[in-house]
Amino acid sequence: MISISALKALLATPQKIVITTHHKPDGDAMGSSLGLYAYLIQKGHHVSVITPTDYPDFLHWLPNNSNVIVYTEAEDRSIALVNEAALIFCLDFNTLSRINELGEHIRKADGFKLMIDHHLDPEDFDDYRHWSINACAAAQLVYDFIKNELNDEQFINKDVATCLYTGIMTDSGSFRFPSATSAVYRIAANLIDLGAEHWRIHQLVYDNASENRLRFLGHCLSNNLEILRDFNAAIITVTAQDLKNYDIATGDTEGIVNYALSINGIKLAAFIIERSDKVKLSLRSTGDFPANEICKKYFNGGGHRNAAGGASDDDLATTIAKFKSILPEYKSQLLQ
Ligand code: 5GP
Ligand code: MN
Repeated sequence: MISISALKALLATPQKIVITTHHKPDGDAMGSSLGLYAYLIQKGHHVSVITPTDYPDFLHWLPNNSNVIVYTEAEDRSIALVNEAALIFCLDFNTLSRINELGEHIRKADGFKLMIDHHLDPEDFDDYRHWSINACAAAQLVYDFIKNELNDEQFINKDVATCLYTGIMTDSGSFRFPSATSAVYRIAANLIDLGAEHWRIHQLVYDNASENRLRFLGHCLSNNLEILRDFNAAIITVTAQDLKNYDIATGDTEGIVNYALSINGIKLAAFIIERSDKVKLSLRSTGDFPANEICKKYFNGGGHRNAAGGASDDDLATTIAKFKSILPEYKSQLLQ
């Protein structure tokens, strides 16, 4: 373990630093990582952001995106940077299995591991932790870390503010989830004052779909949506052939599960997709219903109560059948 004062002392001189985030990074993963990056480079550190995999095109406009290293595209370089780093920041995840092969390299590395995260059940691999499940986004915790732990609010410049606002906006469902407390709105207001152009950020992230993506969404809603009224549940399934037909890229499927949840009365929505190596599930729920419990218990995954994910090595049809077979166990909660 390392204390905040020891960490501050380390950060007082230029260090080699790696920032990493979870598999298939989303807006919060990239926003928190590039926000911390934009802060640390102002202090003279040598900083590398390494993602385990690629991430959606609609995040490529983020400041300093061109400096991001994707592990699967530069393994040797990534491993060398991890091994040389004095500090390794792990953002928006808390178990090393969430970053695939990169996780074992980080586990073995000598540098201090610093976790900034808001997911349940953190694994004990870190030397310093800025962690709270009450935060709506890892980006909120990065903001808090810079402002209140390091007392460096004056370094939250336009780039930092833009990235952190993006993370908070995307993970809070554009400020509509219960996690978007009044404190979160105050942070967002402060980030706007510090240079985040909220209208532009929203446009760049959400009004940036390809024609294919919109037609694919139409296909999912017209042809692939099943409503299970007996359980207040809805499922959208996607085959590998669908992905091919619509030329679907990383990130194009993000958010589609929310359409299923937007149906009147639906408490649990599942998005089940046939990826090349496995079948992936995304669950969303309303109220107290624990989507993460289903993912943890049956699909080797986890997440938040209302937004969770997991995977299955079974084929698509078997995974769908398995998901449906689980619903009776939760029937009373789903019908409440
Ligand atoms: P999504 O459905 O957008 O892929 O993921 C929603 C949330 O579920 C993520 O923020 C993450 O917390 C969690 N999650 C998704 N997939 C997995 C997984 O395979 N394992 C674990 N532990 N959590 C996941
Ligand atoms: Mn997050």
